[in-house]
Amino acid sequence: MKPIVILGIFVADTAYRAQRMPQMGETILGQGFVLGPGGKGSNQAVAAGKAGGDVHMITRLGDDAFAGIARDIWGKAGVKPAVKVDHESYTGAAFIFVDSNSGNNAIIVANGAAGRIAVEDIEANRALIEGAGVFVTQLEQPIAPAHHGLAIARAAGVTTILNPAPAAELSDAMLALCDYLTPNESEAELLTGLPVTNLDEAKAAAEALLRRGVGAVILTLGANGVLYHDAQQTLHVPVVSAGKVIDTTGAGDAFNGGFAVALAEGKPIAEALRFGNATAGISVTRVGAAASSPERAEIDGLLQ
Ligand code: ADP
Repeated sequence: MKPIVILGIFVADTAYRAQRMPQMGETILGQGFVLGPGGKGSNQAVAAGKAGGDVHMITRLGDDAFAGIARDIWGKAGVKPAVKVDHESYTGAAFIFVDSNSGNNAIIVANGAAGRIAVEDIEANRALIEGAGVFVTQLEQPIAPAHHGLAIARAAGVTTILNPAPAAELSDAMLALCDYLTPNESEAELLTGLPVTNLDEAKAAAEALLRRGVGAVILTLGANGVLYHDAQQTLHVPVVSAGKVIDTTGAGDAFNGGFAVALAEGKPIAEALRFGNATAGISVTRVGAAASSPERAEIDGLLQ
């Protein structure tokens, strides 16, 4: 199996629960705290590593305690870091306030070193990207290095996946470098300006993205699975249920990680989509994002 190279960000999620938000100048006692790994790129790398991929993660971290959390979870998932330590910044961190009455949240993301990922980071890892089977990125780091990574991968014949999250304006030149674009419904709406509330609309949005140069669109539809659309075929692949749904945080990341592994192993597209759905299908039966992604044996067991 060829390596999977993932460009993206890590942030330490620091989640506080309290009865209400403190007023400016006020201090209140909270009701709970959870420190966990976050960042779509890192979550996808962990999902792919646990699913059996040979995964390399290109990112930037600070020289601080939160960087240790990233290295620790990657180590456990078998993810190899291709990390630039940025001494002028800090490891990304997110403040997540959770209202314990409503469950609603308010979030501040300070992406720190990961927000400073630049084209030079991609050039430093050119050989790694050129030797990969699959290159995956998202839009949480600056767009210029993502575009550059996709261009290097495409020129070397490496399969490219862009998970366009969070949604942003993208040039046709960048979209044309994507073998697979994997938006969820709201991202597809933002990218196309079209509504995506049913399968017909999902197909129309996918078609609009194909016209802008994408090779194939995989629209993730939550509990409705995925819609795959390319110039030859349209497939609706339903979810693979693994039990009661507990927490869908990071479902898209689990899908992308699993799908990348299946592609790197040379599985045909319908099988790769089902593998991605099974990876995500197990993750939604557990709490958390990176922590909830399954080991390979669990995915194979579900797909038997
Ligand atoms: P995102 O997390 O990016 O919003 P989705 O909500 O579209 O992504 O979910 C991604 C994938 O996770 C789906 O395509 C599906 O495979 C799986 N998934 C999501 N919700 C469920 C569910 N309720 N049951 C089983 N699988 C699910």
